[in-house]
Amino acid sequence: MIVRALPAAGREVAVTFDDLPVVSVTRWDVASHRAITTRLLYAIAAHAVPAVGFVNEENLLADGVTDPARVDMLRQWLDAGLELANHTFAHLDLHETPIERFEADVVRGEPVLRELLRARGMALRYFRHPYLHTGTDLATKRRLEALLAARGCSIAPVTVDVEDYLFAQAYDRAVELGRHGMARQVAEAFVSHVESKFAYHEDLSRRLLGYEVRQVLLLHANSINAERFDALAHMLERRGYTFVTLERALADGAYAAADDYARPDGIGWLQRWALNRGRPEHFLDGEPVTPRWVRVRAGEGWEGRIVRWMARMHRARRRIMGMKAAA
Ligand SMILES: [Zn+2]
Repeated sequence: MIVRALPAAGREVAVTFDDLPVVSVTRWDVASHRAITTRLLYAIAAHAVPAVGFVNEENLLADGVTDPARVDMLRQWLDAGLELANHTFAHLDLHETPIERFEADVVRGEPVLRELLRARGMALRYFRHPYLHTGTDLATKRRLEALLAARGCSIAPVTVDVEDYLFAQAYDRAVELGRHGMARQVAEAFVSHVESKFAYHEDLSRRLLGYEVRQVLLLHANSINAERFDALAHMLERRGYTFVTLERALADGAYAAADDYARPDGIGWLQRWALNRGRPEHFLDGEPVTPRWVRVRAGEGWEGRIVRWMARMHRARRRIMGMKAAA
């Protein structure tokens, strides 16, 4: 569904990417990750987007040691004039992890980042919770906030979460199976899905705050964004957006509101503010959902199990053919 709306003057959005250096369900090799990084950064630069990338340092490891080739991918982000920040070491879920262990993982997520940033005269300034899980009770939430503040990190909120990871999984699996028509279909559905998400959150913001907040978009460092970020950026420009730093977005007064949200759902900040202000659940109705066919292609549910099984068979066949070719 394409949502046509007249561009409002002065819309602003900060764009953030999680799970750096790269996240993929089908490709783990350095060459693929470097290609995804290079292509994504090219599109980011083409639209002069001052993005922030949130890193899981565990993704830098190869056989248990830090892989310099993957650290170089982070340098590519800094070379492009972008900022890096912490997304925990191992992408732990705060809602499934004792707070002591989670805190240790936050600290363990910093050393490579701090070193890279320091070498450029920059500091580590932001933290993003995996799954946007910020704590199911206020005591845990406040304890983690205090740790982050002591380490000089502000929490990076999200107002627009588009579930790009589901589209990326569907896309990667289609490519792996050689179904390029399906991959293209997923990529095209992705761009219109993101546009409908923006239309929803612009409206939600107007209804809740009386104006459109400076939005913060959550994306991931994945193949579908390498392919389609250029199209996404064009779409956002058409809607009247300029790309701003996360710092500029967070200077919007809305982000200073007291935040008592402590529930299991990793929802966006506009929704949190609405619930904090006592709005009923139905105030949030109408958020576009990721189409079911994309979820299935991503491997969700029993039909998704078939998709994953086909991918496994495909990989096994390719391995056997590779062995025959080598013999
Ligand atoms: Zn993440």
